Amino acid sequence: VGEPAHTARRLRFASGAEVFLRDATVASVILHTRPTPFAPRGVDLRAWLPGTSDDATLDEIAKGVHARPRFGGPYAYFAREERFVRCRFEGRWSEPGHLVELAVTLAEPGRACQPDDDFCGTCGDLLVRADGVDGVDGVDVDATVDALTAARDAQLLREGRSVVPLADLRLLHSSGLMERVESHLECTSCRRTTCLTLYRDAPPTCVHLTFDAAMRRPLEAIPPVEQWGDAARIAAAADAMRYVDHHPGSWFLAEHESGWYLQSRYSRGPMVDGSCLIRLEASEVEGYRTGGREYLTLLARQIDESRPWTDESPFGRRHLALADEPGAASLRARFEEAIANHRWIAQQRQAQHRRLAPPG
Ligand SMILES: [Zn+2]
Repeated sequence: VGEPAHTARRLRFASGAEVFLRDATVASVILHTRPTPFAPRGVDLRAWLPGTSDDATLDEIAKGVHARPRFGGPYAYFAREERFVRCRFEGRWSEPGHLVELAVTLAEPGRACQPDDDFCGTCGDLLVRADGVDGVDGVDVDATVDALTAARDAQLLREGRSVVPLADLRLLHSSGLMERVESHLECTSCRRTTCLTLYRDAPPTCVHLTFDAAMRRPLEAIPPVEQWGDAARIAAAADAMRYVDHHPGSWFLAEHESGWYLQSRYSRGPMVDGSCLIRLEASEVEGYRTGGREYLTLLARQIDESRPWTDESPFGRRHLALADEPGAASLRARFEEAIANHRWIAQQRQAQHRRLAPPG
């Protein structure tokens, strides 16, 4: 599995237990409470965890393991002596009869990929290996990109928007302009993110990470498309919207051949925030040219003070979410795409700032 590769193995027992190994180390043991093709009866949980049963609710399991439940990914789980007891329910965990499996695992659910995800029927087999053809080992980049693209087009994977699009991966890599070029695809079944990375000076890698871990991977700025795109790619980019600037917590500015677009945040009360996306008028573009960022911050304040969610606000009427001009929806989508990367970076900085801030 993956590249660099690890060996994933599972052993299935007619008792309803399943043992997962990673490079010959036991990484997880799953007890299936429901019948499976290899275990027609499933386990009898009473024999494994006194005080519980195959019908146990989350509370009953909590009493059985003497711990409080936590939640991560699709699981409820308990921490015990640096191991985790992971439960999966189909239906409500507060009512009996919905427990499907109980697992003991080394990897913390929600924080690290689970060993059984290696057998995910959706994303487990998409890496194609070169296997020594033409003296090349490891990832067959062309075949893997094709497999990932087909799975994405079938909506089995969702493409990450804050990284290099899969369609640009090889063009950017062969330009030699970036140290590492990486695409992210999130699995709709197991929720892992497949990260395919092409390095300037090293063989390609393909790893599976949790969504959070994938988001923490270092991002390199993507150079202007004119420096690496072919004619078709450059033409497509001319039609795209470009991020220009932003002020944390206040506004984002993007540029398109149809004009300049400002998304401005407003507060409707102590707990309710909203945002308003407008195309700048000629006088406002002029204001930005002469006044720069400060002009936009003032304009954002005017928009906020005009109460843009009301009919009286001249800015509210220009909000592209309401404006029924043709193409408004597509402009909104392009705007979101243009700022996605920068929004994420801004959120990371805010989160870091919160972590550093003293409590209270
Ligand atoms: Zn998957």
